[in-house]
Amino acid sequence: MRRRRKTKILATLGPASNTPEKIRALFQAGADVFRINMSHTSHTALAELHKAVRALEAEEGRPIGILVDLQGPKIRLGTLPGGSRILKEGEQVRFVRKVQADDPNDIPIPHPEVFQAMKMRHTLLIDDGRIRLRLLSVKDYYADAIVVVGGEIRDRKGVNLPDTLLPVSAMTPKDRTDLDAALNLGVDWVALSFVQRPDDVAELKKAVAGRASVLAKIEKPKALESLGEILELADALMVARGDLGVELPLEAVPGRQKQIVRACRKAGKPVVVATQMLESMVTSATPTRAEVSDVASAIFEGTDAIMLSAESASGAHPVEAVQMMDRIAQSVEGDPLYASILEGQRNEPEDTTADAIMAAVHQVTHTVHAKAVVCWTKSGSTGWRAARERPEAPIIVLTPMVETARRLAIGWGLHCVTTEDAHDLEDVTDRAARIAWQEGFARPGERVVITAGIPLGTPGSTNLLRVAFVGPK
Ligand code: PEP
Repeated sequence: MRRRRKTKILATLGPASNTPEKIRALFQAGADVFRINMSHTSHTALAELHKAVRALEAEEGRPIGILVDLQGPKIRLGTLPGGSRILKEGEQVRFVRKVQADDPNDIPIPHPEVFQAMKMRHTLLIDDGRIRLRLLSVKDYYADAIVVVGGEIRDRKGVNLPDTLLPVSAMTPKDRTDLDAALNLGVDWVALSFVQRPDDVAELKKAVAGRASVLAKIEKPKALESLGEILELADALMVARGDLGVELPLEAVPGRQKQIVRACRKAGKPVVVATQMLESMVTSATPTRAEVSDVASAIFEGTDAIMLSAESASGAHPVEAVQMMDRIAQSVEGDPLYASILEGQRNEPEDTTADAIMAAVHQVTHTVHAKAVVCWTKSGSTGWRAARERPEAPIIVLTPMVETARRLAIGWGLHCVTTEDAHDLEDVTDRAARIAWQEGFARPGERVVITAGIPLGTPGSTNLLRVAFVGPK
């Protein structure tokens, strides 16, 4: 079974999609990677979802990625007297360092670190940025603020502090236990929320110790200030437009999306564009024109993957939302402008043998109209470097490691097949051509471009390029 597109689809699992039948329907509609959001998932539910995806993988004979999204240090209000309160523009209010406010004039924030880090004139946002305040003064146990945009606040509503560098790690005690549960199951990707600085990613990488790949969600302006270093440490980035759009002016988000996608493409690391891509499909069977255009523009930028959140997790039309993304991706990728836009933003190879081979693969594939690029890889690094080139033909990744195949499921154009290491050069060529034919990418008489590393089975040794004809069967 092969996809007819190169852009990958991530579908978040939730109440609308948490049974084996529903997960199968999402996969058959086009989902390549399943995201499990630990903000809303117990360890028991995580284990059941993991089991269902692995069973589906065995049934379909295709590697499927599982990404576990850690909740991170989300700041929330405490409990208000009466459960809610209206804030009026121009009103002066007091935030207190408490779980529950007894005085009706006080608004509790049960996070001491917030009071250590907030400064006069910083902005404080409540409820996805609907309510905006400016801080007038900050003390150890309370802070006074003026309401700039008012509205109703309720218990436990989310708080964002776009100007404040919080002295907290991106991993809370809950994240650590969730991480242990996820790694014990053997998930493929772990996503880190509210990354502020490179050290946050380093901390997760240390805890993960190679047992999964690490994706940093870019959703705070502070993270944008050190994007290069974060990208150097992370294995992938997500443009997490939900919180990014709260902490930055909305109109600034599209530019940052382009910046993040381009940085990842240059680095040869996968990038996911996420949140509200087909939001109206949470309730409606068809998306708006603007949503289709938004998904299309992420694909035209050459993003590796596009993501569904509530649309597939709790919406009324999860399968239709995946089908819609699949159709948009096929249509965009078939547009003559797509290839020229990708080519226009192509990055120079880095000065390594592997990149030199990949640049040659790109050229040869184009010149001989090859039907597929076939990469032999153990660690997956050759697959990522091939995807970085964004060649015209799909990339078949042959690997003996199922873990590698699952991780690469998120990458642009990568169709992974698990197969034992090649024995000799003849096997490198013959098996690559045969698998390209068996998987439906090339017919007898058509060409494929093959890469591998000699000596065979040595990670990081990509140094061979071959053109082969698929033989008569
Ligand atoms: C986001 O904020 O865009 C995001 C993907 O994170 P979450 O869904 O966890 O809020």
